[in-house]
Amino acid sequence: MQKRHYGPLVITVLAILVIPLWWLSFPETTVQHNLKPIPVYLSQVIALTGFACFALSFVLSARIKKLEDFFGGLDRMYHAHHTLALTAFILLLLHPLLLASRWIPEESERILWYLFPVHRRIEINIGSYALWGMIVLTGITLLKLLPYHIWKITHKFLGVFLILGMIHIILLDHSFSSNIYLTGYILILSVAGAGSWFYKTVLFDFIIPKTTYDTHKLHKPYEEVLEIELSPRDQPVQFKSGQFFFFSFLTPGMSREAHPYTICWHDAKSGNIKIMVKALGDYTSRLNRTLKTGVPAVLEGPYGRFHYNSGKPDQIWIAGGVGVAPFLSWINNTTPWEYLRHTDFYYCVDTLEEAVYAEQFRNAEIDNPDFRFHLVCADEVGYLDVTRIPYVSRRDVFICGPRAMRAYLLKEFKRLKVDRNKIHYEDFDFM
Ligand SMILES: Cc1cc2nc3c(=O)[nH]c(=O)nc-3n(C[C@H](O)[C@H](O)[C@H](O)COP(=O)(O)OP(=O)(O)OC[C@H]3O[C@@H](n4cnc5c(N)ncnc54)[C@H](O)[C@@H]3O)c2cc1C
Repeated sequence: MQKRHYGPLVITVLAILVIPLWWLSFPETTVQHNLKPIPVYLSQVIALTGFACFALSFVLSARIKKLEDFFGGLDRMYHAHHTLALTAFILLLLHPLLLASRWIPEESERILWYLFPVHRRIEINIGSYALWGMIVLTGITLLKLLPYHIWKITHKFLGVFLILGMIHIILLDHSFSSNIYLTGYILILSVAGAGSWFYKTVLFDFIIPKTTYDTHKLHKPYEEVLEIELSPRDQPVQFKSGQFFFFSFLTPGMSREAHPYTICWHDAKSGNIKIMVKALGDYTSRLNRTLKTGVPAVLEGPYGRFHYNSGKPDQIWIAGGVGVAPFLSWINNTTPWEYLRHTDFYYCVDTLEEAVYAEQFRNAEIDNPDFRFHLVCADEVGYLDVTRIPYVSRRDVFICGPRAMRAYLLKEFKRLKVDRNKIHYEDFDFM
């Protein structure tokens, strides 16, 4: 049975904790609105909850290793970050709309202006600047308007609008000075959020230990995939099979942006490691075309909690394209057969040419009677039909690949009533 990860539950409790704390100062110290109190009180509760979600979303994107166990891997932590940030966005958008709704229908024309920073009171305008900053930057994220590496730079500015939001709350002082619990909690959230943002945006690259390797050997199993063998300059990195690092290659003409790749092979004697990189976008295509031996690479990590020993010995493994990397790491760097009983591995690719590691798994099948290898080429047999997997509901399932594939398989397994706690996955994108 999969280990329970309480991260999402804890974060939810921390986000809604502002509500009972706000209630402590209701109705005495909250703004008395004899006009239409409900939308005003609701907008306060929604704004404080939205701010709590926003602040906590920065904690989840600060790549704090200690938190990974609570979420079951960095990819899950980023997904929780997305959900929290989107919730914050919707709540903080509702805040001024609810406040302005008290003018319906008598003074409806005031509603639109209310959303803009054209108020007499600076503390309200600061809130409006914070909201519009969030609207623009979240809009860019949701609409995927920019290439990933440029989007990442714009995304870093969201911290500025968190701080403006914090100033807006403090200056407005709705029940603040008289409700020390709410004050204290909002300050804790603000320090946690702004502190995480400053840590990840400014300090991270200076304080996080990184290891330098050199590009030792390059091999192209097929046009789109580049296998990169790297040798350690000093101490080799420590990692658990299936884990990934963020790699930046230091070569003229290549940006120093860091991308996550899973280590799929490791030589204990030399410390050499191997990653395989599929040209999936602008950076990986350029790396595929231009990387040369001798180029230094900086590694930051390890991350990831995707490992077969988090499930029972009867297992089903499903890899999509480059999602084969962690499974390769398991058979290359560990002896899973000592733990596993019956394992079926489904290697899903679009074309036969892509199945470059099939041989390795076929050999593993020959050497291990309890391991069965299945190659699924979409252009020959279509996508994997999970209804044909034997005893699927009695076994633990491990999935790694593109997020869309994982989402499709989860839906199929749900239809087959496979216990959600028996499904383990790692997405090869954080978005
Ligand atoms: C946990 C994990 C392990 C991975 N392991 C491998 C592997 O072993 N081999 C392999 O070929 N690929 C792996 N990937 C995918 C690889 O990181 C992306 O394909 C690569 O970052 C794409 O960059 P790009 O600029 O070429 O593409 P873009 O076109 O710029 O991006 C395509 C998608 O890749 C993701 N992406 C882009 N840049 C980054 C980044 N810096 N950090 C995180 N995600 C990014 C985004 O979701 C984006 O939507 C892994 C991804 C994750 C999350």
